[in-house]
Amino acid sequence: MIIDAHLHADARPVENFKEMKIAGIDAIVTCAYDALAMKHSIVTLEHFDKIVYDEPKRVEKENIKLYCAVGIHPRAIPKDYENVLEKIPEYLEEPNVLAIGEIGLDSITDMQEEVFVKQLQYADENNINVIVHTPRTNKKEVCQRSIELIDENIKPQLVQLDHIDYSIVDIAIDKGYTLGITVQPLKMSTPDTVKMLDEYGFEQFVLDSDISPAPSNHLSLPETKHELEITGHSRKDIEKVTYKNVAKFHNLKL
Ligand SMILES: [Zn+2]
Repeated sequence: MIIDAHLHADARPVENFKEMKIAGIDAIVTCAYDALAMKHSIVTLEHFDKIVYDEPKRVEKENIKLYCAVGIHPRAIPKDYENVLEKIPEYLEEPNVLAIGEIGLDSITDMQEEVFVKQLQYADENNINVIVHTPRTNKKEVCQRSIELIDENIKPQLVQLDHIDYSIVDIAIDKGYTLGITVQPLKMSTPDTVKMLDEYGFEQFVLDSDISPAPSNHLSLPETKHELEITGHSRKDIEKVTYKNVAKFHNLKL
């Protein structure tokens, strides 16, 4: 079994899901993102509707269970974002919606911080998990600020901090979060992922492909699992990062 802890199913064709299932992926967590400019809340809410109500029909035909996260992505904040915040609780009542995400900072601006903090506070008050994005540009500086806001506003056990790489692992490792490694051509390669797990341990990491319209590999998790197997890692450790840690984080009954 493999669970992909963060991706964007709506950006990909059904052919990908068939190959993913054949390669051993049984469940995925698809997150809201900047699929469009999202200038108005109506567009964001239509995006949420697509993820929560339409995507399961496409993905589950291939026998992959689809879970979701909905939230306001930092690169796609509508002018009237309050309307989206008001509706998020309704989506969270759906049984396949596990978390608020992906949210976070893509750069350090007042608007991004305001929207991020409001979502963190709501999640903390209601004990809901959050999936937090970290950017490619100015990664360490922006991540440092994200960590300050997380620590001020939410319990660490509710947080999956994602797109961890060597530039930020040291500032995140002792925070008590679940840490996501995105195995992707321009983020972390399979050998780098194995190296990081060897150095930092298998306890708090989950793996994801973050497949989207950007360069990404829908089979990066089966490839990483294979690499861990042929390099002599224990079955117990492999199970932790390929599905057990993410199932524990979201309290999934397998
Ligand atoms: Zn993403």
